[in-house]
Amino acid sequence: MNLQRKLEILADAAKYDASCASSGTERRDSRDGKGLGSTAPGMGICHSYAPDGRCISLLKILLTNACNYDCLYCVNRATSNVPRARFTVDEVVQLTLDFYRRNYIEGLFLSSGIIRSADYTMEQVVGVARKLREQHHFRGYIHLKTIPEADDVLITEAGKYADRLSINIELPEQESLAKLAPEKDVRAIRRTMGRLRLKLEEAKENTKSKNAPRFAPAGQSTQMIVGADSASDRTILNTSANLYGSYNLKRVYYSAFSPIPDASRALPPSAPPLVREHRLYQADWLMRFYGFEASEIVEKAEGMLPLEIDPKLAWALRHPDRFPLDVNRASREELLRVPGFGVKAVDRIIATRRVTSIRVSDLARLHIPRNKALPFIVLSDHRPSPHLLDSARLAERFRPKATQLGFGFE
Ligand code: SF4
Repeated sequence: MNLQRKLEILADAAKYDASCASSGTERRDSRDGKGLGSTAPGMGICHSYAPDGRCISLLKILLTNACNYDCLYCVNRATSNVPRARFTVDEVVQLTLDFYRRNYIEGLFLSSGIIRSADYTMEQVVGVARKLREQHHFRGYIHLKTIPEADDVLITEAGKYADRLSINIELPEQESLAKLAPEKDVRAIRRTMGRLRLKLEEAKENTKSKNAPRFAPAGQSTQMIVGADSASDRTILNTSANLYGSYNLKRVYYSAFSPIPDASRALPPSAPPLVREHRLYQADWLMRFYGFEASEIVEKAEGMLPLEIDPKLAWALRHPDRFPLDVNRASREELLRVPGFGVKAVDRIIATRRVTSIRVSDLARLHIPRNKALPFIVLSDHRPSPHLLDSARLAERFRPKATQLGFGFE
């Protein structure tokens, strides 16, 4: 099989993995004439978005899509009829260098199906990173998928070469994983996440020493598939909160389940609405940067995030007792809960109100969407009507207008 065909198969097989946005790594470049590549923003091939909104490009491939495991939700499972391919270590190294030199990519995201054994597969994955770094002095971004059952020595070596390591938790509940991916061992996944956490903390403590071993400076992440099982958004967010707290993950990525050919009957016949994935990302953001608990974001009774409005607005509409909030006096924590107020806007508010009272005319300069925020806030020249917050009309005002479906022609 020629390289072009392998690339078609193995890039297509990798597209289901969402956990590859790069962020928070150290800055490296080769302007000193040594090495190749950099982690600076560039242009390229497969676009991912970092948490700061920066668009980055990675060569995103599998080493092989052959796999011993038979995870029902996966297109690469052992019983799938897809064409199989496998790169050699040297082929991946050469492709990465060629794509980098042509300015198509600024890094590599490498994952793999499990062949022979966890250690054998991990050794191949690490081999690519080792060769790129040591033989070719590649200084671009490297994200390696980690195989939980692999030997600790290999995981340590992976962290030496990679910027980020990830292990996919796959499903939010252990029972679903046992049903849909019986060969996966949730205890091994969590144990390895715990080992990564310890190594990351150790590396952080040693950063002052020049000779301290390097370990994945961009941290660890994971991915959860949404809609392959019946788990509610509340369950998903509780699992994420637990993962962030227990393993100090940089990111949990949410990937809406895509129906696959010849799928098992244990899987739903259709994909969940994509907006569900989007709302989960928004809710995740609220937990990490806005001080919300998972239990506050999704009401226990429903268990699901509303699809038509964002989760912060939904929370505010459920808590009229917390509003209107006086922007000139409220604490930072309170301000972060106002619909339309982002973290940067809150910082700008706090800096501005030290010198002057904030008025309606200041909102545009503070990058605050006026229509969204005004019903919830008091400013020195604005107070919303007391009836507004009690009324269902406020919720109605934010719901998207129903539109009639078109006929597809003008
Ligand atoms: S181990 Fe990974 S590649 Fe293999 S079937 Fe499961 S999800 Fe797919």
